[in-house]
Amino acid sequence: MIEGEARLTRVFGEPTGKALAKLGVHTTTDLLHHYPRRYADRGAYTELHRLAVGEHVTVIAKVVSLTARPAKNRSLHVVTVKITDARSSIDLTFFARNRRMVGHLEHQLQVGTIGMFSGVVKAYRGALQLLHPDFSLLDDFEDEANAIAEAERPVPIYRANAALPSWKIAQAVRTLLDPLRAEDLLDPIPPDVARRHHLMDPLQAMRAIHRPANAADWKRAQHRFKFTEAFLLQTALARRRADIAAYEATPRPERAGGLLDALDAQLPFTLTEGQRTVAAEIASDLTADNPMQRLLQGEVGSGKTVVALRAMMQVIDAGGQAALLAPTEVLAVQHARSIANLLGPLGEAGLLGGSDEGTRIALLTGSLNAAQRRQALADAASGAAGIVIGTHALLGEKVQFADLGLTVIDEQHRFGVEQRDALRAKGRTMPHQLFMTATPIPRSVAMTFFGDVEVSTLREIPAGRSPITTHLVPADNERWLQRTWEKVAEEIRRGNRAYVVAPRISATAGEDGTEVLPDGDPDGKRPLATVEEVADLLRAEPVLAGLAIGVMHGRLPTEEKDAVMSAFTSGRSPLLVTTTVIEVGVDVPEATVMVVLDADRFGLSQLHQLRGRVGRGTEPGLCLLVSHADPGSPAAERLTVLANTLDGFELAEADLEQRREGDVLGAAQSGRGNSLRLLRVVADRDIIAAAREDARKLVAEDPNLIHHPELLVTIAQLVDPDHEEFLDRA
Ligand code: ADP
Ligand code: MG
Repeated sequence: MIEGEARLTRVFGEPTGKALAKLGVHTTTDLLHHYPRRYADRGAYTELHRLAVGEHVTVIAKVVSLTARPAKNRSLHVVTVKITDARSSIDLTFFARNRRMVGHLEHQLQVGTIGMFSGVVKAYRGALQLLHPDFSLLDDFEDEANAIAEAERPVPIYRANAALPSWKIAQAVRTLLDPLRAEDLLDPIPPDVARRHHLMDPLQAMRAIHRPANAADWKRAQHRFKFTEAFLLQTALARRRADIAAYEATPRPERAGGLLDALDAQLPFTLTEGQRTVAAEIASDLTADNPMQRLLQGEVGSGKTVVALRAMMQVIDAGGQAALLAPTEVLAVQHARSIANLLGPLGEAGLLGGSDEGTRIALLTGSLNAAQRRQALADAASGAAGIVIGTHALLGEKVQFADLGLTVIDEQHRFGVEQRDALRAKGRTMPHQLFMTATPIPRSVAMTFFGDVEVSTLREIPAGRSPITTHLVPADNERWLQRTWEKVAEEIRRGNRAYVVAPRISATAGEDGTEVLPDGDPDGKRPLATVEEVADLLRAEPVLAGLAIGVMHGRLPTEEKDAVMSAFTSGRSPLLVTTTVIEVGVDVPEATVMVVLDADRFGLSQLHQLRGRVGRGTEPGLCLLVSHADPGSPAAERLTVLANTLDGFELAEADLEQRREGDVLGAAQSGRGNSLRLLRVVADRDIIAAAREDARKLVAEDPNLIHHPELLVTIAQLVDPDHEEFLDRA
């Protein structure tokens, strides 16, 4: 809108402006898009019997009585107003400084008056009350009919706080709505699209969402704004997709008798049906002269690595190189090791015993010494290394390739757009890109956020994997906890390994981004288990006496991490107390027990990832979820869902239904406001599908949105650097 960026402090004054800013609402445009969270039905009165102590509420009720008496402290008067909604009643308490203020209240709150009251619910002498509520009266209307119509309007309930109750927000919004004209609103939806979907016109929708005449009114308005959100997102994705498709890539067709064939011939297993299907899709993408953009998703252990390696071989056979970017050093090293194992002599060209037709693997991480680094850089630049594996170190300016044809990005959600672009820019032409993730992405999410990439899925786990059993352990049951440690000891005595995961590093260490759960313990009532304390506890535990216990977390220096990891892998230190750094991809076949402490503080998908660390060898896995959650509580039920299924997709859907999208999509999206205000990926999948179809059609016809300037401007605002998370999912 024209005055869209007017600061609210200027429009409504400092106190209101500041209170709105706390809600993330800074400009008049923000305020117009601060849609009501829900609508209360005025006719039925908001239910007083539902009030809970401590809640900030807005109720609508009728005044039954008013009494004023002097307070013990004689300078104050206590005014008690009883209000009712026919079903129950509650007292309002006001402290008046003088007689004049008492008179004012008596005048306004006469018996029979209906008002909207908001304040925090307190308990006083066994009864609930609202202390000093803000109120506005519903009978300030010109005539009765007007008053009834007003009383029957649904009441918009806004996300509010104590400084600024919902009805004050409604008031502020109203002052913006009254003078609002159609030309003040930027409508990004092309008229023909709006017509096809019977969308409300933007001005009407803006009025209806904030001041609906009835329920049908706000529902149509919501639909309009949901469609708009979906359409913007899908147009941005379609443009990204079209942008990348417009680049030229070097085709890397299969070559008979090359490294790929040699690799296939020596694989110690046959590819699963799913692996073959996905491999064929990738092989065909690589043959095209526009860059592949494919997301390969598959459970931990579903065999993504060999699929990616086959793609790398195809590219090397066609004269190119491949880079594999991993989020952590542990993972980069592990990838290098498993790829070296799969390749054998094929990956040791130029080395004694290596194959002359083969290629070489270079590993580039932050902890190489100068000579190692120089060698790796030289191998990448000369092309001697067909495969370059690394962490963020791969993105450095000094890293050059002879001919980068394929980038594989593992756990892609851990990287930002710029990082992926930085790697991409190292090709002479645009490299083909393969993204991998072990976090199952439900179809609804894939459609919403990954509209710019093709998605391939490995659903089956290669045969021969061992079963995993999951049990819940109540944390306050000493006997069960004891049994847990006995089980850990037993497994280790049988030559196996065990993980014990805690949500925090230490009580004092600050937050460590990737490792401390975003929701921590919000009220700090019960401190979460920490790696350091748990390690001490277990060292003192008699049944574990004599066992070496390793400690792992993201704060350790790299050398120490490697040392701890290799002591664990080799069995020298068979019990590992760790944060979720071991969440992704870590592969220790002898690990058979996973104990997760404060399990209720983790998301289902994350727990599923952790559980996937065991049962990777020949022995069955055991996952023990220790939690303080009360049996029957939603948290305990979530854990039961996990115990009952091993299907990651089912869990991801369950996660999505129970938590908000942001939580499911990972920490990258939390914190900053999500640009989706009303749209919900599961509930609104039909809207998203419809918007996607229209968006793709529009971008195909008008890729630069030359004929749709409103759309262009709106998207530009969404994807500006401050809103980069908007697209930072693919
Ligand atoms: P992901 O990266 O998807 O978690 P990996 O690629 O690491 O899984 O594969 C897990 C294990 O399964 C590895 O040891 C790998 O060699 C093995 N594997 C992969 N594909 C097959 C297959 N088709 N049959 C048997 N084992 C396989
Ligand atoms: Mg892997």
